[in-house]
Amino acid sequence: MTRGKVLIVGGGIGGLSTATALAQADYDVRVIEQQEDMHSSIFGVGIIQPINALRALKMLGVLDKCLDQGFPAEAWGATYDVDGNFKHSMAGSKIDDEDLPPMNGLTRPKLHKILTDATLEAGARIDYATKFTDLTNHEDRVTVEFADGSSEDYDFVVGADGVRSQVRRYVLDEQIQPKYIGQSAYRLNIPREPEIDRIILQEGPKGMAGLVPIGKDLAYLFFNAEMPREGRPQGAELVSSLREYLSDYKGITGKVRDKYLNEDADIVLRPEESLMAYGEWHKGRVVLIGDAVHAITPHLGQGAAQAIEDGVVLADSLVRTDSLEEGFIDYTERRFERCKLIVETSLAIAQWETGHLDGFDNVAATNHVLEVMAQPL
Ligand SMILES: Cc1cc2nc3c(=O)[nH]c(=O)nc-3n(C[C@H](O)[C@H](O)[C@H](O)COP(=O)(O)OP(=O)(O)OC[C@H]3O[C@@H](n4cnc5c(N)ncnc54)[C@H](O)[C@@H]3O)c2cc1C
Repeated sequence: MTRGKVLIVGGGIGGLSTATALAQADYDVRVIEQQEDMHSSIFGVGIIQPINALRALKMLGVLDKCLDQGFPAEAWGATYDVDGNFKHSMAGSKIDDEDLPPMNGLTRPKLHKILTDATLEAGARIDYATKFTDLTNHEDRVTVEFADGSSEDYDFVVGADGVRSQVRRYVLDEQIQPKYIGQSAYRLNIPREPEIDRIILQEGPKGMAGLVPIGKDLAYLFFNAEMPREGRPQGAELVSSLREYLSDYKGITGKVRDKYLNEDADIVLRPEESLMAYGEWHKGRVVLIGDAVHAITPHLGQGAAQAIEDGVVLADSLVRTDSLEEGFIDYTERRFERCKLIVETSLAIAQWETGHLDGFDNVAATNHVLEVMAQPL
């Protein structure tokens, strides 16, 4: 006997985590992913997994794999000025009764493989190259029309289809859309230099550079740069534009720039978009999770962490309440303030990085978020 039949739209980090949690809670789960296969939607760069992400991954049963294949750091990070002078250290937070590192770095393809395996092992099904064309929310079911002309009924549908969500319009007012925040993020995998053993943040005049360990021998460089969305550098302009942004840096960022910044094809440049949906995160039998309902910019390394937590909490809320409606309301109530704090603090950091928020204390704000995230889910 299953608890119900569920369709999850989107096989990203949030969709796979939700699928695993729901299948482990005895739901009959199908995931549809528009991309052709497991790796087509992921850029091969890394991801920061803060301690609260690790707690949620432990609940899904995949913590050890993430730590074994990643770089569990002894501290969250440290900040330096543009000349390479040390400014602050950030120990990170602790979670009572848990033996978890403050941060783990991992490549995105490895995380995707781990979550895909967990989804399948929990008994859920994943269909790639599959899209829906319409959803009809009935009182007792949702009818889903698929692009191949077929249709099927589900007890509920989870929109886990990211920042450009197609499911969102069935739940929220169409006016609620993500906004470009005026920054884009360069990212580039590099060999791990020994001093990159935690998140290294280096403040420059044109934005924030950072280095993150994601394996014994692997790290990545990121740079949050202020730029218009249209006309962003691309192709053969990537190395030269990033070199220009990093031209003032001494210390570890300068060393990495001079040693490893050579190939345009190695660099990913992504626009940073933000969204926080107020009000209910469900309508009838359709519910949203992850970037579809709270798109989080990278400044605190928390976007994927929140998508994973959403999945864990959604399954728990449904199990501990007596109806779908109560479960969805319980889920939103447990998630809203955490996500809002991260969306808003990330935006404040972005403003400060680009010189538009004087007097802001980046270290204190980050430490506060890390403390709050260590509270029970
Ligand atoms: C530059 C950058 C760096 C970041 N770094 C970090 C970090 O270090 N740590 C962290 O925790 N977070 C980070 N984030 C945030 C994180 O990547 C996102 O918050 C996270 O991926 C959201 O997960 P999701 O599953 O909601 O959405 P996504 O990861 O976007 O997944 C959505 C999936 O749905 C699929 N899809 C979309 N539409 C459809 C459709 N109609 N039908 C079927 N499938 C569909 C997509 O192909 C995709 O696979 C970063 C974000 C950016 C932009």
